[in-house]
Amino acid sequence: MNNLAPAEIWYVTGSQTLYGEAVLKQVAANSRKIVAELNGSHRLPVKLVFQPVLTSSEAIRQLCLDANNSPKCAGLVLWMHTFSPAKMWIAGLTALKKPFLHLHTQFNRDLPWGAIDMDFMNLNQAAHGDREAGFIHTRLRLNRKVVVGHWSDTEAQDRIAVWMRAARAWHDWQGAKFCRFGDSMRQVAVTDGDKVTAEIKFGYSVPTFGVGNLVECVDAVTDKAVNKLCDEYDATYTVAPELRKGGARHEALRDGARIELGLRAFLKDGGFKGFTTSFEVLHGLKQLPGASAQRLMADGYGFAAEGDWKTAALVRAMKVMADGQFGGASFMEDYTYHLSPDGHLVLGAHMLEICPSIAAGKPSLEIHPLSIGGKEDPIRLVFNARPGAAINAAMMDLGNRFRLLVGEVDVVEPPQDLPKLPVARGVWSCRPDFKTACAAWIQAGGAHHTGFSYAVTTEYMEDFAEMAGIELAVIDAKTDIRSFKEQLRANEIYYHLAPGLGRL
Ligand code: MN
Repeated sequence: MNNLAPAEIWYVTGSQTLYGEAVLKQVAANSRKIVAELNGSHRLPVKLVFQPVLTSSEAIRQLCLDANNSPKCAGLVLWMHTFSPAKMWIAGLTALKKPFLHLHTQFNRDLPWGAIDMDFMNLNQAAHGDREAGFIHTRLRLNRKVVVGHWSDTEAQDRIAVWMRAARAWHDWQGAKFCRFGDSMRQVAVTDGDKVTAEIKFGYSVPTFGVGNLVECVDAVTDKAVNKLCDEYDATYTVAPELRKGGARHEALRDGARIELGLRAFLKDGGFKGFTTSFEVLHGLKQLPGASAQRLMADGYGFAAEGDWKTAALVRAMKVMADGQFGGASFMEDYTYHLSPDGHLVLGAHMLEICPSIAAGKPSLEIHPLSIGGKEDPIRLVFNARPGAAINAAMMDLGNRFRLLVGEVDVVEPPQDLPKLPVARGVWSCRPDFKTACAAWIQAGGAHHTGFSYAVTTEYMEDFAEMAGIELAVIDAKTDIRSFKEQLRANEIYYHLAPGLGRL
């Protein structure tokens, strides 16, 4: 995955000096074993790093400051092996800038019924030690994930893994740059927003460049590099005969390849993690970047069309969460509907730019006219998205806050072939049903552009929203419109008041 910085998660155990050196040594040994076993489980995507057992306010504060300063530390797992009076944690936790997960576990899985004595009781106090910790987290209004279960429990491990992926995506956003070629599509509301607030809240910036800057990079691409990339296209996709060497439109394939190489060079030189294009701003480019945007997404770049920087950043975050997992992630748009009484379906697509990481089979590389943009026909990858459960996620700037909206869907085989549709697409049904899902999405002010993924589930987005301190609204199998609207109204009040309550 391009530009993904190394990350680690610190495993931090809380205790106190009351129990004496021998107990603390045992606590440290037990924590080391947990860290080693969790790392050895191969269920966690990020390495856990053992940190010394903490028994004083000074040590806790220093560890939190060290975590803030560590470029590799993406977050903390906190666990109170014994009792750790929580006032000791105030100085550290109020300074901590990294997300944390509170693991409510116990070293011993089973109670030794016949042998249990006060030594066991002193050593295994998480049942109340973690309650003391939870109080101060709540008192400080700190967002966190609480995972409950024995550390060997694979369900608990999987929940930690989800949080780790969200933490890595959050870590990846800090200091990230998303390049915007041109502005948002003229007059479009939801794709715009407050980039200053976004940078304060999310840690990424969105510098704008004229497309002329990109054209310089495209013009600098050598014929030799274009030849090589065209060979790669041949090896990877089913290339339409007219685009192949000797075909009537081979020059258009070469133009597309040249744009891809220019884009890659520009993004690499600038250290960008994603980008947006605009069909309204293409001066000097022969085609709208189609296949190139698709292939760059497949390499991990965040992307959205029409200057939609919020969605480009969201797609990048979802790609980081999905990294190394089966399923992929893509830019997406609810495009058109099938409103049959037998079952309502959504056809999701875009003009061109859907990521082949979600393709059901080998994509075909084709060329067709594009009725907007006023440029030459663009090359694009065409495929169906594979069947399976997936989510659409959208980020909106509501003026006083950002709302992250997630809709759960089930991608199906298209009921019929789509021989004349010249773009990549997915066909899905909505949870709980089409009418409820669409009404809820529209009531929430949900964007038409989304980040789409099979690998990333609602739980990832929930963890991510907690880290960002933003509103999350979910449309799933349990959604009903009346309570959904009430929840949105309650959130309106909560997010207005939250800055006065604590740290949001
Ligand atoms: Mn669009």
